[in-house]
Amino acid sequence: MQVEIIPCLQDNYSYVIIDESNNTACVIDPSEAAPIINFLQKQNIELKYILNTHHHFDHTGGNEDLKKKFKSIVVGFKKDSKRIPGIEVLLEDGEIWEAENFLAKIIHVPGHTTGHICFHFFKEKLIFTGDTLFSLGCGRIFEGTYEEMFLSLNKIKSLPEETKIYCGHEYTLNNANFCIKHDFENQNLQKKIKLIRKQRDNGQPTIPTTVKDELDCNIFLRAKNLETFSKLRDLKDNF
Ligand code: ZN
Ligand code: FE
Repeated sequence: MQVEIIPCLQDNYSYVIIDESNNTACVIDPSEAAPIINFLQKQNIELKYILNTHHHFDHTGGNEDLKKKFKSIVVGFKKDSKRIPGIEVLLEDGEIWEAENFLAKIIHVPGHTTGHICFHFFKEKLIFTGDTLFSLGCGRIFEGTYEEMFLSLNKIKSLPEETKIYCGHEYTLNNANFCIKHDFENQNLQKKIKLIRKQRDNGQPTIPTTVKDELDCNIFLRAKNLETFSKLRDLKDNF
């Protein structure tokens, strides 16, 4: 399996997971159809599945057009079936989704929205975290509670350290500036920021990050308790 990063809209990332053995793919959170179609046609790849982490338009905007074009099947959380355009395969928390050679465990992570899920491709050690966990940050709490978000992040924290994290937005530099303000002596963070700056200067994505890097550097994951986490989340909302 190979993961291709497709920049969409202003700062979204969609991800195409390619099975090179038969030139098929699934896409995670297609914000818009055009850049995905462009990429797939150039490589002559068939899009079999559309996976959505949550219902927000910047993660599902391409669903209908891609479905029409490739006859792809839309896959998402059962409880969000009314909110995800074109959905056909309904998944539950803890379920293993398996189709063709794609294999992912569904992790329900409420907080940003009540129906947010992550797709954990545990064999390849990849996780797609949508707007729940960002590199050096976490999503805004729109529909859930602080406690739900805190517990959701803990689920991701417990994955193997080498797990690669693919999130929904390129927010890393702004997140880094917030982290360093509250954790200025963290040498791992200082080192990571140097790398992030270099990547952004070269026009490269800062994604994927890893569970290890986030445990070392992300103050939202480093928050010891719900109180600290909630305070940081409030501060970040006004950063
Ligand atoms: Zn969102
Ligand atoms: Fe988003």
